[in-house]
Amino acid sequence: MNRESAPQESDPMEVLETLSDESYTGVNRCWPCTVLNLGLVGLLALFLRARKRSLLSLLVAVVGVAVVYLRGYLVPYTPEFAPRLVAISPVPDEWFHGESAHDAATQEAMAHEERDSLAEDVELDGETILRELSAAGVIELEGERLFPEASVDTAWHDRMDELAAESLDSLSTTLQASLEQVGHAEPYVDDAEWVVLGSEHKQLLPRPVVVAELAAYEVLGERLDDEGLRIAGAEAFRMFLDSCPVCGSELVESSSVSCCGGHLGPRQDPDETLVCPTCEQRLYTFELDDN
Ligand SMILES: [Zn+2]
Repeated sequence: MNRESAPQESDPMEVLETLSDESYTGVNRCWPCTVLNLGLVGLLALFLRARKRSLLSLLVAVVGVAVVYLRGYLVPYTPEFAPRLVAISPVPDEWFHGESAHDAATQEAMAHEERDSLAEDVELDGETILRELSAAGVIELEGERLFPEASVDTAWHDRMDELAAESLDSLSTTLQASLEQVGHAEPYVDDAEWVVLGSEHKQLLPRPVVVAELAAYEVLGERLDDEGLRIAGAEAFRMFLDSCPVCGSELVESSSVSCCGGHLGPRQDPDETLVCPTCEQRLYTFELDDN
C-alpha cells in the first residue's frame, strides 16, 4: 500500500480543526465540564497503566487532553450524562450541571431576573461610597490600592466562613432576619445556588454574593450609622475578594464570561468581572464606564 497517496486518510491537522468546537472553548469554555472530562481521561489512563497497558494509557492521555482542549468535551453530551455519573460518584453535585444546563440556565435567567447585589436600591456613586468608607476608617489606602482595615477584614472573613457553612435554607433565613428590607428570601437551586428575593417580582442573588455581602453588612454595622452606606459598602467589599467565600476557589478575572450560557450572561456588558469557576457565579463586576 502506498502510504503517500492514501486518499481516505485525512490530514491530522484537518481532523483537529473539524473537531474543534468554538461554542465550548475559548471564552465559552465550560470549566466544570472541562475538569470533569480531564478527570475521566486521567482515570482511564491510570486504569490502563494499572493493567500494564502503558502505551495505550499514554495514547489515551494525549488524545483525551487534546480533544478536551479543542472541543471543551471529550465525551459528547457531558451535561446530559453527568447527573447520572454524579449519582454514583462521591464528587459534589455542584461540580456538574443539571441536565441540559446549557439551555436550562438561559431559560431560568429569563424566568427570574438576576440581581447583582443587595444594594440595588441604594443611590450612592462609587466615589462617595469609597470616600465615606475611608472616612469611617473601614477601608484604608495603601499606596495606590484600597484595602479593608485589618480588624474589619478579619471580622468579615470570619463571618463569611460562618455563613458559608450554613445551608442555603438557613442562609436565606439569616439574610431575611438581618436585612429586613429584602423582604421574602428563599433558597433556589438549578445548576448553581441562589437566594431568591421578593415574592411577586422574584430576583436571584448568587449564594457567594449573599455570603460576602451579608457578612460585610453585619460587620459594617458596628462601624457605620448610615444604613444606605452600610448596604452600599457591603457591595463594595466584594471587590476585595480573592477567593470564593462559599467554595474557596480562587476567583478568575474575566470579561463578560458566558460559561454555560445563562448565569454570567450573554446580555451582560463586557465589563471586567471576578468569577468563581467552581460555583459558576460572578462575584464582582468592575464597571468600566464609571468615569
Ligand atoms: Zn465558589
